[in-house]
Amino acid sequence: MANLGQPKNTIEIIQKYQFVFSKKYGQNFLIDTHVLDKIIAAASITDQDCVLEIGPGIGTMTQCLAEHAKTVIAVEIDRALIPILEDTLGGYPNVTVIHGDILKTDVCALTKQYNAGNPIKVVANLPYYITTPIIMGLFDNHVPLESLTVMVQKEVANRMQAAPGTKDYGALSLAVQYYATPYLVANVPPNCFMPRPRVGSAVIRLTRHTEPPVQVADEKLLFQLIRASFHERRKLLSNGLYNSPELSFTKEEILQAYNIAGLPEKVRGETLSLEQFAALSNAFVLN
Ligand code: SAM
Repeated sequence: MANLGQPKNTIEIIQKYQFVFSKKYGQNFLIDTHVLDKIIAAASITDQDCVLEIGPGIGTMTQCLAEHAKTVIAVEIDRALIPILEDTLGGYPNVTVIHGDILKTDVCALTKQYNAGNPIKVVANLPYYITTPIIMGLFDNHVPLESLTVMVQKEVANRMQAAPGTKDYGALSLAVQYYATPYLVANVPPNCFMPRPRVGSAVIRLTRHTEPPVQVADEKLLFQLIRASFHERRKLLSNGLYNSPELSFTKEEILQAYNIAGLPEKVRGETLSLEQFAALSNAFVLN
């Protein structure tokens, strides 16, 4: 099968099937073989791996994955792409294409069915309109994962790996870093895609921690505190916590928890590390 990472081969398939790109599905297909190679290398795909690809498009990356992995499961929402994938992936018996919405797919069940419940690798050029729900959905649902190597909007990659006190630091940085270690693989310009996206892109690898870097008595509370503190970013953390619709602590309880966690009264959420959020959340539980 002709390498779809070559622009002329992608154009040929698009024309053969008279495929019309859909903006609502975030369709920007990769047309750069170097970027494809970088993604495969960064994900360290071996012939032992079961890989989940989210949004295979016309199968460009799927073909590369199939050549390196044991098994590839590809979930694609756009019905118009299914016959194209049957064509482009026909020569790869280790690929299963599933027509469906990844946000409604039981990925844990797929890992059981295709990898005996063992950790899988996720590799994808993600549809940018749902990057965060896809990634957080995989983590929150405790899908057995080794790593995610994904193309995302450049700004989102920056937020995922941001450190406390920087402008990009926020709830996404903390959530991602609670579950995984981020590593920026490469920045990718718009001309590597067809059609070109309006934003810059980046490949980021998130390697799942075997143990969370902090121990918390109540994980749900940790994430409620994180959300509350970035909801009103410029305000004092104590106000954010007090005003949060998700929390019902009194001002006294908040100050007591601050004391136990060793936080100053006038602290802002954007300066707190994951360790400090964990200490605060444990302080509320102990209180
Ligand atoms: N992997 C292909 C490539 O690199 O050329 C296509 C990537 S394109 C950025 C995103 C793909 O995700 C599209 O094929 C789109 O139809 C698909 N997609 C969008 N929303 C989806 C969803 N909710 N579930 C599954 N696939 C989705």
